[in-house]
Amino acid sequence: MAFLNFRLQPKNELEKGGRTSALIQSDESEPEKKCPNCHRETPLSELAGNLNVCTCGYHFRMNSRQRISAMTDKGSFKEMFDDVTFSDPIGFPGYEGKIESAKNLSKEKEGVICGTATIGGEECCIFAMEPYFMMGSMGTAVGEKITALFEYATEHKMSVVGFTVSGGARMQEGLFSLLQMAKTSGAVKRHSDAGLFYLTILTDPTTGGVTASFAMEGDIILAEPSATVGFAGARVIEQTTKKPLPKGFQTSEFMMKHGFVDAIVNRQKQRTVIRHLLKVHNRREDA
Ligand SMILES: [Zn+2]
Repeated sequence: MAFLNFRLQPKNELEKGGRTSALIQSDESEPEKKCPNCHRETPLSELAGNLNVCTCGYHFRMNSRQRISAMTDKGSFKEMFDDVTFSDPIGFPGYEGKIESAKNLSKEKEGVICGTATIGGEECCIFAMEPYFMMGSMGTAVGEKITALFEYATEHKMSVVGFTVSGGARMQEGLFSLLQMAKTSGAVKRHSDAGLFYLTILTDPTTGGVTASFAMEGDIILAEPSATVGFAGARVIEQTTKKPLPKGFQTSEFMMKHGFVDAIVNRQKQRTVIRHLLKVHNRREDA
C-alpha cells in the first residue's frame, strides 16, 4: 500500500546522516514536486492547496508562515518579537554569511516566528519554527523569542501552541545555543506552574537540543505522520552503541509507541484538533 511505504524509510539527511550532518543549511535540493513516497509529480500550487500533503499522505515540509496561515483564523495572527535577531556571541567564522543566505532563502529574520492568534475563535500564543532558516536551529535569538512568548503567555494567562522543526542547537553559537535549552525550559515551567496549557506539534525533523527542551515539554504532544523525532542522529547512536537500531527508529510512530507522543495527527485534521484542545483548556479559566 503506497500510503504506508514512507513510514519506515529514512527520508532526510538527518536520519540518514546522523547528528554530524544535522545542520542542513539549505533545503533547495529537497524535492518539492516529486513525492519521495509514491514518486508522483505534483505541481507546487496543487500541493500548496492541499497543505503540502501528497495524495498518498506524504507530508512535505511547510514554511512557518504557510503553517501559521493554514492553522489560524484569517487575519488573526499578530507577530511579536520580530525585532529579536541574530547575534554572533563567539565570533564564529563565516556565521554572518550563513545567516544572510538563510535570510535570503527563507525570507525570515530568524528560525522561529511568534505571536498571538485565534484558532476557530480560541485565543492562543503561537510559534512556528522555520525549516528554511538553518533548519530551525536554536541560537540565542530563537531561544529569546520562545522565552519571551512564554513569558507573555504566562502574564496574559494564555495557552501556547508550538510547531517544532529543528536540527537542534545552532553550533555556530557554541555554548550560548545550549544555554537556550535551560532558558526556554524555565519559561515553559513557569507557564506550566501558572496552570496554563501548552500544546506542541512535532514536525519533520524535530531533533537535538530542541527535542531535549521545549519540544517535548508540552502538556499534550502531537506529531505529524512519519516525522523524524529524536535527539542524536541514528548513525551516531549506532556508531556509539555498535548495535543495530530497531526498524522505524526516530519516527513519530516509533515515539508514539514508546510513549513520547500522544497522537499522530494529519495536517488536514490539525486545525480541528488544536481548536478542540484549546477550547477544553482555555475554558478552564472561566470555571
Ligand atoms: Zn506521494
